[in-house]
Amino acid sequence: MKIPVDDITESAREIRFSERIDGLNDLYKNNQFRDFSFPPLLEVDLVYYRSGQEIFFKGSFGGTLDGTCSRCLRSYSFPLSKEFDFVLSPDPSQSGHKIEELTREDLGLSYYSTEEIDLAPLIKEQVMLALPTRPLCHENCRGLCGSCGADLNQETCACSSSATDPRMAIFRTLKVGR
Ligand SMILES: [Zn+2]
Ligand SMILES: [Zn+2]
Repeated sequence: MKIPVDDITESAREIRFSERIDGLNDLYKNNQFRDFSFPPLLEVDLVYYRSGQEIFFKGSFGGTLDGTCSRCLRSYSFPLSKEFDFVLSPDPSQSGHKIEELTREDLGLSYYSTEEIDLAPLIKEQVMLALPTRPLCHENCRGLCGSCGADLNQETCACSSSATDPRMAIFRTLKVGR
């Protein structure tokens, strides 16, 4: 979705559109197992308006993604939705006076420097922020046996029970660090 800057006024406008996000699949395809796969389109609701030179966006999106569980390696689907807001300011490097060298991260601001605001990269960024840190089919997924590879959600294997005892899992995931 692209919005011409000149069309953005001080009165808020509300739109609903489908954004292409399947480009995100390229970002996540390096792994041996693809952690997440994205549908072609995501439904986005968005309200935007201008205040002076700054442009305010507030919206939400929702869709269904596929993940590959990092414990049992099964594919599963899950809903992903998020509310977000962000502000775009005119790019200071495009204007005559330079403000101090503050980076975007410092300010939490993004800039626009074109006559049209392309929402696609901003929406994709929000999608990435909404993703879980690692894909799990279920938070209690028991994963695969480290010895024989059995899916412990489906069966119990004959390997040493101490290795697969779920009560021991806490020690295996515990990170010692202070
Ligand atoms: Zn799983
Ligand atoms: Zn086993």
